[in-house]
Amino acid sequence: MSQTKVTYNYNLDEYELAEVQQGDLAKLLELCRKNMKDPDEKLVERAFKLTYLSHDGITRASGEPYYLHPLAVAEIIAEEIGMDDVSVAAALLHDTVEDTDITLKDIEQEFGPVVMQLIDGLTKISGVFKSKNVKQAETFMKLLMYMAEDLRVVLIKFADRLHNMRTIHHLPRKKQLSIATETIELYAPFAHRFGLYKIKSELEDLCFKATDPTGYKFIARKLRDKKESREEFIDVFMEPIREQLERSGFNFEIKGRPKHIYSIYKKMMRQQKPFEEIYDLFAIRIILDEPHTKEDCWRVYSFITDSYTPIPERFRDFVSVPKANGYRSLHTTVITNRGRKVEVQIRTRHMDEIAEKGLAAHWKYKEGAEQQGKEAGLDKFVDWVREVLDNPRPDAATEFVEDFQLNLYSREIYVFTPNGELRTLPQGSTPIDFAFDIHSEIGERAIAAKVNGKMVPLRNKLSSGDQVEIITGKVSNLNPDWINDVVTHKARSRIRQYIRQEERKVSDDGREMWEKKAERYNFELSDQDLAKIANKLEFPSIQAMFFAIGSDSYDVNRLVKAVRSFLSKGRFEGEEEEKAAQKDDKKTEVYDDRIIGDAQTANKQMLTMDGNLDNIKYSFSKCCNPIPGDDVVGYISRNGGLKIHRTNCNNLKHLIKTEPEYIVDVSWSKKSGNQFIGAIKIIGEDRVGLINDISNMISTTLKTNMKSINVSSDTGAFEGTIILYVDDLKHLENVIKRVMKIDGIKQAYRYE
Ligand code: MN
Repeated sequence: MSQTKVTYNYNLDEYELAEVQQGDLAKLLELCRKNMKDPDEKLVERAFKLTYLSHDGITRASGEPYYLHPLAVAEIIAEEIGMDDVSVAAALLHDTVEDTDITLKDIEQEFGPVVMQLIDGLTKISGVFKSKNVKQAETFMKLLMYMAEDLRVVLIKFADRLHNMRTIHHLPRKKQLSIATETIELYAPFAHRFGLYKIKSELEDLCFKATDPTGYKFIARKLRDKKESREEFIDVFMEPIREQLERSGFNFEIKGRPKHIYSIYKKMMRQQKPFEEIYDLFAIRIILDEPHTKEDCWRVYSFITDSYTPIPERFRDFVSVPKANGYRSLHTTVITNRGRKVEVQIRTRHMDEIAEKGLAAHWKYKEGAEQQGKEAGLDKFVDWVREVLDNPRPDAATEFVEDFQLNLYSREIYVFTPNGELRTLPQGSTPIDFAFDIHSEIGERAIAAKVNGKMVPLRNKLSSGDQVEIITGKVSNLNPDWINDVVTHKARSRIRQYIRQEERKVSDDGREMWEKKAERYNFELSDQDLAKIANKLEFPSIQAMFFAIGSDSYDVNRLVKAVRSFLSKGRFEGEEEEKAAQKDDKKTEVYDDRIIGDAQTANKQMLTMDGNLDNIKYSFSKCCNPIPGDDVVGYISRNGGLKIHRTNCNNLKHLIKTEPEYIVDVSWSKKSGNQFIGAIKIIGEDRVGLINDISNMISTTLKTNMKSINVSSDTGAFEGTIILYVDDLKHLENVIKRVMKIDGIKQAYRYE
């Protein structure tokens, strides 16, 4: 540590704030008074003064004084998450120990041990994020660990990230993309699991806006255009129900907000449908104020079904059986007399608060005896996290994150044991998952399952309401193929462990085969040398090499040859040959876009990087086919050339994570002259001469070259893909606009 450290010399009680900062503080205190009982105002004031003084003279990327960031985080904590005064103080101080001369000891002396511990946790988390070599998986684990210690640490971290995402446009493009990727992969799933619905939605929207600004603006504009007709529809729809609620003396509120932009986008992608065809853009929510209870939710449900016909399959009762993140609500979808489906959610004010604020609301209500047991789902989740953390395996981090993310987002099903005990499992679970969920030994010995009294294969998917009985044998029946039939972490990790044990056996065989040869030829080789050779032969480890030998996929004599050449010359004579021979053997997948895209090479200068790209060779990646006008970045490939990707490209996401230092900002220069590949999807009614009309329009009227046109028609409906050469995004959009006008075409849109 630095020895010339300035000693702490602030006198917080006597320091007088200037007028502007007094105003900032007053606003924050007002929020505290509004959102918490008896906040310790002195504590908040002192924390505010210290953050202001310690960050003095520092500015953010936006040019604003730095203290406005911790202040904004504290406001989110007080108002949007609704936490306590201690959390507000910790939010104010969250960057002090890391970025200024203030030490944890100073914090403890000024604010006591609780605030100090929160800051300690926050500083550690942020250290984890900043260290370059740390894998995301480990970050995730650490995040979980701090969460298990004090939930407030993670909630403040969420607020910090939320404010950073809200102000992300001030950062360079490359930084934006890597922060957005991390946010969508780490923070959003966590927020979802904690039931922080509002924060999760906003984080997702902000990430979407950062990575795909065009897509974001497109949906946002469509939603705005439809706002009025949507509100009108909700008014008309709710009229009979509103009347009945009022007549029966209910205190209630009706909300009809659209779903968030990213979720609409995901739906469009998943169903491969244009915006116009996404029907459930919003849900109507009826919130019952005190003193209404859950029984009243059922009364409201009956009011709704008096006026409209419900669709029984869409009914969900999360009131009696809450989701694992504590969410409770009644969901029903009804049909209007015009045939339109509308989703209605019914809940009490308290349930609504849990739905929007999740963990935070839980934390807040925890003390209340009345709420005992109601958010049991969350406690179960925290228990699960603890259980996982209690049995850490160093190599398991990545696997763990995969499972974890799977579990974070999955929908749930509810199944029963033979005794009628309820178990919650992720959707897609099989009897194998169920068996492991009961006990790992039952999972290992499972040989068959009875679902609702009937024998079914172990790999059949379960549905809500199933009663499941596992039939076990006397010894382990564990099958490595099961890895493809399970979704729960517990089942996966046990099966993986088994697979690893089996692999060990095979590689022990391989080692034995090698050792026999080594003895015969009298090779003297250290393990280190062997590792070098394995590496040269492109195996990730000695273990992997022996596995290949043991499983007969690599001839041990080739290793002998390599070793011989290594020992005699100290280098690899037949190296090239070895490599060539090996290429045929290897069945590993390659995720490198250097191999995916043998992209068209551009000759003319149409991109700029810091105003200049003169001496750099660049090409456009085939995975996302960027065209001028698209939001793009460059990736420096291993041969030194630059590969241009669209910012919303899936391959790029991988690269940003693994090689962020090779991503550079580029932008389109004004003039180009090159042509690019673009694709359009068209859907419509089939008629004679339609294809002719389309190709005429494109090639004759629009003077655009088509590469291919592919159509299929089925009972009058018509679907097709056109691939064509375009100058830029505008050109493509123009073609789409004109194609839309052709008689019979119902939709036309860019096809990725
Ligand atoms: Mn911060």
